[in-house]
Amino acid sequence: MLPFRAIIKTDTRSKKIRIKIGLMGDVVVSKPKYCSQSCAQDFVNLHSDWIEAQLAKIKDRRMPLQLPTKIDLKAMGQTFNIKTNISGRGVKLINNEIIINRFNQDDIKKDILRLQKYIKKIAEDFIPKEVKALSMLTKLQPQTICIRNQQTRWGSCSNRGCISLNQKLLLINPTLMRYVIIHELCHLQEMNHSKNFWKLVQRYQPNFKELDSKLDFNKLPVWAIVK
Ligand SMILES: [Zn+2]
Repeated sequence: MLPFRAIIKTDTRSKKIRIKIGLMGDVVVSKPKYCSQSCAQDFVNLHSDWIEAQLAKIKDRRMPLQLPTKIDLKAMGQTFNIKTNISGRGVKLINNEIIINRFNQDDIKKDILRLQKYIKKIAEDFIPKEVKALSMLTKLQPQTICIRNQQTRWGSCSNRGCISLNQKLLLINPTLMRYVIIHELCHLQEMNHSKNFWKLVQRYQPNFKELDSKLDFNKLPVWAIVK
């Protein structure tokens, strides 16, 4: 009996078995259609040491859960102090200080979720401006831009021309954020990861390969990935 539970899913488009460890320690195995449930389970058993090592790493990072005293929104080049207040309501920004009013409750996770929600607001104001500037450069214009708080994707582009971008982009450096936006904008023209797509990306971001390899949700601070 393994000390973790793996969720096995069938992915009709995939050709091999993949194990994905979520940021919160969920183990998801996607298997191609031809591979049976027990064959996928064998695969998990075979890789259980590796899975356990990954889970241990995540656990180390998660404990103990703390509200940050300062957050660094690198993409904006701005840092904010975080304070809590026992009276009052809502989350407010006063002189570079984000104040979380917690009305007498002592629940760090709730505070963190409210902080994330507030960061979404900041992202909704900041990221679309960046997209507009890069749209001018690339002449690629999305129909809509929406900011989300996804756990596994930095961005996505729908075939109706809507671009979704992760609010966590604020936490990575501006060059990386720029690359993610360019990547999604280029999908407006090439809805795939074909040679033509990467050629287009390269036109606006020559070192895209290096940047792509630096994108890592595991490098984000713990408070940002709690859900
Ligand atoms: Zn892509």
